[in-house]
Amino acid sequence: MKLQTKFGAERPNATYQQVLEQKKSDKITALYCRLSNEEAQRSESISIENQRRILLKFCEDNGFTNTRVFADDGETGVFFDRPALNEMLAEIRAGNVSTVIIKDQSRIGREVIEIGLLKRTFDEHNVRFMSAEDGLDTAKGFDIMSLLRDVFNEWFVADTSKKIRAVQRRKGLAGEPLSYPPYGYKKAPDNPKHWIIDESASKVVKKIFQWCMEGLGVSHIANRLREEQVEIPTVHAINNGLLNNSSGRVFDPYDWNVNSIAKILGRREYTGCLINFKTFTKSYKNRKKMQSDPADYAVFENAHEAIITVEVFDQVQQIRNSGKRRRNSSGRVSILSGLVHCADCKSKMYLSNGACLKSEQDNYTCSGFRTKKKCCDSAHFIRRVVLEKAVLLRIQQLTAFLSEHEECLVEKLELQDNDKFARNLADDKKTLAKAEKRIKELDSIIQQLYEDKVSGTLNAERFVKLSEGYEQEQNDLQAKVKSLQKKFTEQVQSRMNVDMFLNRVRKYTNITELSTVMLNELVERVEVHARTERYTKGTQQIDIVFNYVGNIDGIQAKSAEIG
Ligand SMILES: [Zn+2]
Repeated sequence: MKLQTKFGAERPNATYQQVLEQKKSDKITALYCRLSNEEAQRSESISIENQRRILLKFCEDNGFTNTRVFADDGETGVFFDRPALNEMLAEIRAGNVSTVIIKDQSRIGREVIEIGLLKRTFDEHNVRFMSAEDGLDTAKGFDIMSLLRDVFNEWFVADTSKKIRAVQRRKGLAGEPLSYPPYGYKKAPDNPKHWIIDESASKVVKKIFQWCMEGLGVSHIANRLREEQVEIPTVHAINNGLLNNSSGRVFDPYDWNVNSIAKILGRREYTGCLINFKTFTKSYKNRKKMQSDPADYAVFENAHEAIITVEVFDQVQQIRNSGKRRRNSSGRVSILSGLVHCADCKSKMYLSNGACLKSEQDNYTCSGFRTKKKCCDSAHFIRRVVLEKAVLLRIQQLTAFLSEHEECLVEKLELQDNDKFARNLADDKKTLAKAEKRIKELDSIIQQLYEDKVSGTLNAERFVKLSEGYEQEQNDLQAKVKSLQKKFTEQVQSRMNVDMFLNRVRKYTNITELSTVMLNELVERVEVHARTERYTKGTQQIDIVFNYVGNIDGIQAKSAEIG
């Protein structure tokens, strides 16, 4: 008998009693399927139909007969809402079921009560429980309760983590420091919740802020600290008993790195405040530290003695945030730094303003020329004040033009667009229509070829040759259609860009000086051309490439007089 050999060969652990039960074919093999709402919405491939198919195949392969499917479709997984499960349990209690089979363990919910009830019911009525895909089988010693192990573990960890978080939250909100004191502070010996100044380290912090104010970049600062043989924060902490070097790692004591200096320069704690909740972790499962939104910080002013004044701190932030607009050795800043490029070799132009130069002598030169990296044959020398004046004038012209001839400007920008994108707009549209039509034709030609091949009017060799040719043509056309469509979308995008740009320009009527914010909003780059003649004769063209719309011809003066 097939059933018996199957059992004998593959399930040596099945008890005699269970084999007997199964053999009495008047008992039902219950196949339980479940699909939760969530899963249905995610349209996963575990549809009820799919589960049913897998289970029936499993029964056929393993000799289970008299099957009956119990299916809970779109149930939430909350036990008491599952009619098919209840129906199946009723059959079990009536003594009509020998075996329950599910697709895999995720088909039962993860409710403790539910698993407990299943366990009790199955045991009481001597029901064998199996899963088709993950090989669970009570006849092989599987215990349903073990499904709870994972549930419990997860629950336990989550709960502990939640409690720890709640405690931390409470402490943090009460103004208790949640982190170690930053370099420059240490815990007070009599009260570890209070930070006091670490004399020697705080002097270094002051120096770092001072040097930044003087215009030194972080790498310069790092070099100076190295030269002065100042110990790095980690080594300082170890040598002063603030930190255990449990790893026994050996440090280069003067190896200051730019990141730690940048971090020191950004720590508001030095102004005397305590900031909690600067970082957070998403959950106990993902310990990665994330930066909080500053709006979520808990800030406690005057929590400890300040090392840096608020004024100095704010100034340093301004210097640091302006990033590309950093001051150099003279301490002077050009509002245009980072935006200026050589019109010929496209290299950046840098400001040279040695400390001995007067402010009016500050000038930009092409870095491609200076470094000889690009073969640029002119320094494109321009004085900072001249360039700044020219850029201001250009923006003033633009805003004046906009307020007086708005329509004219819009038209100009749109025309410029048309030039850029669709000089042959009409032709492109025709080409597109033609290509789309031909693609459809080719579809039916290829279809016809298949039919001819099937009917035998076309031999295989000829079919391959012809169809390859047509398919190639079709592919080429499809690529063409795609690129044309892209071009059309770009055109629409560019119309939107014109609007965005004009909205920004409108904010700046009657400006009298350049500002960083305005430049960021309006200007993508400034391109400086070489002088038409050497030395101070001749003129020098300056182009402004605006954000969104690029270069605007016609309204700007073509050149700036050399001052
Ligand atoms: Zn150049």
